[in-house]
Amino acid sequence: MSRFWSPVVHGLTPYVPGEQPKLANLVKLNTNENPYPPSPRVLDAIRAELGDDADRLKLYPDPTGSQLKAAVARHFGVPADWVFVGNSSDEVLAHTFQALLKHDAPLLFPDITYSFYPVYCGLYGIAFEAIPLDADFAIRIDDYLARGAANVGGVIFPNPNAPTGRLLALADVARLAAALPDAPIVIDEAYVDFGGLDAIPTAAGLVRQHPNLLVTQTLSKSRSLAGLRVGFAIGQPELIEALTRVKDSFNSYPLDRLAIVGASAALDDEAWFEQTRRQVIASRETLAGGLAELGFEVLPSAANFVFARHPQRDAAALAAQLRERSIIVRHFKAARIDQFLRITVGTDVQCGLLLAALKDILG
Ligand SMILES: *Cc1c(COP(=O)(O)O)cnc(C)c1O
Repeated sequence: MSRFWSPVVHGLTPYVPGEQPKLANLVKLNTNENPYPPSPRVLDAIRAELGDDADRLKLYPDPTGSQLKAAVARHFGVPADWVFVGNSSDEVLAHTFQALLKHDAPLLFPDITYSFYPVYCGLYGIAFEAIPLDADFAIRIDDYLARGAANVGGVIFPNPNAPTGRLLALADVARLAAALPDAPIVIDEAYVDFGGLDAIPTAAGLVRQHPNLLVTQTLSKSRSLAGLRVGFAIGQPELIEALTRVKDSFNSYPLDRLAIVGASAALDDEAWFEQTRRQVIASRETLAGGLAELGFEVLPSAANFVFARHPQRDAAALAAQLRERSIIVRHFKAARIDQFLRITVGTDVQCGLLLAALKDILG
């Protein structure tokens, strides 16, 4: 506390990111990064943008990121003015909270979900209500509709949800958006690319029928670019304009030159994307099977992580014992989930090391 702080700062409870330890030979399965490198075309594009003398870095980047918007629009088959781009999807989400989710009626999101949501509510002074997941940790749309349309200022949740990994059917997303036509519905699809082998269950195709629906995604997970910080949103121009108004009241140039060209190249390399996401999905199934064999209860995951608990072992103790073996997973000290571990899907070698360590720990 300090007398120099603005009153709002006194009241903040900031988000705590998973740790990024600077240790060698760590099996790092705690922050849902992709174990594979990004498309080689990303590096080519960044090198080309830098040139021999990085002369272009003296110039501001395109404030609208139009090259990246065009790449997103191509990928999803939507017009470019249905796309918003930002410096990470966390930034896109922050603008979304301020631009679309602050109303008199409370914002609704699950009791167990991305822990940044209540942080943004605190930052922007947004009233919210947490709706409990059902006993199987699934989102139940009827619980949201039961609040009555007049009592819903907006709805946001990740799909697949975090940290559970559970996927809600697209038909339920459509039903929610249709039943609350006057409330912005935001689907945070950070993990959606791991949600299906042959078809990706994104709600991006639903935004044409639903003017209240906004879909956000990130290049941090399925595109292996957590270090570049790029995210985007897709929705009808009315929603996109709200985000642009906030962005242009905050930072005119959120994406630097290297991020714009690198992210565009990643979106254009479909073959690399398909190969790596399929490998992660295959490894996830092997990992889930291996955990089940060790006695873990594993929630069905549509993401690049699994959420699992062992009926006889304390989760925090397990996480600490793994840490002694240089394997880091994520444990949340939160109601209902404090006996779960969230384990990122690594390479098959990393998953094998995790399973061997657990086998050893369990005896
Ligand atoms: C990782 C994650 C994000 C943030 O992605 P960035 O683009 O890296 O900021 C947003 N939502 C959820 C649910 C996530 O897990």
